[in-house]
Amino acid sequence: MSEITLENLGHSYAGGAYALKPLNMTWADGRTYALLGPSGCGKSTMLNIISGILRPTEGRVLFDGQDVTAKGIGQRNIAQVFQVPVIYKSMTVADNLAFPLVCRRMPQAAIHKRVTAIAERLGLAPMLKRSANALTADQKQLISLGRGLVRDDVSAILLDEPLTVIDPQMKFELRKILKEINAEFKITMVLVTHDQTEAMTFADTVVVMNHGEVIQAGGPQELFDRPATNYIGYFIGSPPMNFIPAEKKSGQVQSAVGLAQAAPVSLNGGELVFGFRPEHLTVTGPGQALRGKVERIWFEGLDQVVELSSGASRFRARLPDGIGTVGQDLTLHLPDDRLRLYCNDKLVV
Ligand code: ADP
Ligand code: MG
Repeated sequence: MSEITLENLGHSYAGGAYALKPLNMTWADGRTYALLGPSGCGKSTMLNIISGILRPTEGRVLFDGQDVTAKGIGQRNIAQVFQVPVIYKSMTVADNLAFPLVCRRMPQAAIHKRVTAIAERLGLAPMLKRSANALTADQKQLISLGRGLVRDDVSAILLDEPLTVIDPQMKFELRKILKEINAEFKITMVLVTHDQTEAMTFADTVVVMNHGEVIQAGGPQELFDRPATNYIGYFIGSPPMNFIPAEKKSGQVQSAVGLAQAAPVSLNGGELVFGFRPEHLTVTGPGQALRGKVERIWFEGLDQVVELSSGASRFRARLPDGIGTVGQDLTLHLPDDRLRLYCNDKLVV
């Protein structure tokens, strides 16, 4: 197991623009991480640099303080699982799982013991003797994962969108297995995904990336409560965070929909926007009142999402079923501590 440190790490392919802009960060030993961001933002680039598939053009990678930047995959004790399962089609499930151990010349009896234990853990025990090729996509992905886990010297498991080919029910199951394995073996796990639900339900820390940059790293609750940028407010949460234009007037920041707060002293020009979550609006208070006309309502189980307009602004509220009808004027409330202020797309308070 190791702590992984990225030091002034940056990468550009073939001298082009940065695919990964220079950054510093540490992945703590034994924790679960999600690397979340849209396609092309540099997630795989970062993961491949950590695993050693890719040599960075700038900076260093340290495992427990040791510089491994120049070391290849084989010297890093990292297991990587990819979007498409990598299996040896002509081999049985057992032989697939045993492969990394056979390569290391582990004694047969020890291999058998280890393969059996991992297969039990992943629910692959009943199919050990079957041909790997005969299995379903999610079972094949379990084999890929199992091949990473059989080694007892694994520092970290890096998973690059491994759930993309798997149906939603199995995804849930696999995430659960991954978390159990993390709890049991204390192996650092980094899951790459572009799916915010997957990231938020899996990881202790979600690292949000966009355009080759890490824009926020924090716990799921923190990202939900205090998105560092408007982009994260949009990207995390469903429906996304509401954003309403605001302006500074005599010591106060105000918006036309009825929200206001004392202007922070640090505020010095820039484009101001209030941010608040649909989940934090209530019908009965407490908090500041904001009024709007109901434009649309859609149902989501026990809740409904109500979209309101106020002048040129629109915002949404997640409310219990049965509240509001289209065309009605509705007054809602937002607790003061749920109101966020953004200046030029960055969180102020
Ligand atoms: P993600 O995994 O988030 O989808 P990638 O790390 O694969 O993103 O890609 C980041 C950027 O680097 C993208 O603009 C992509 O086109 C570019 N890129 C990725 N791999 C290569 C490569 N082998 N050669 C040149 N450009 C690449
Ligand atoms: Mg990728």
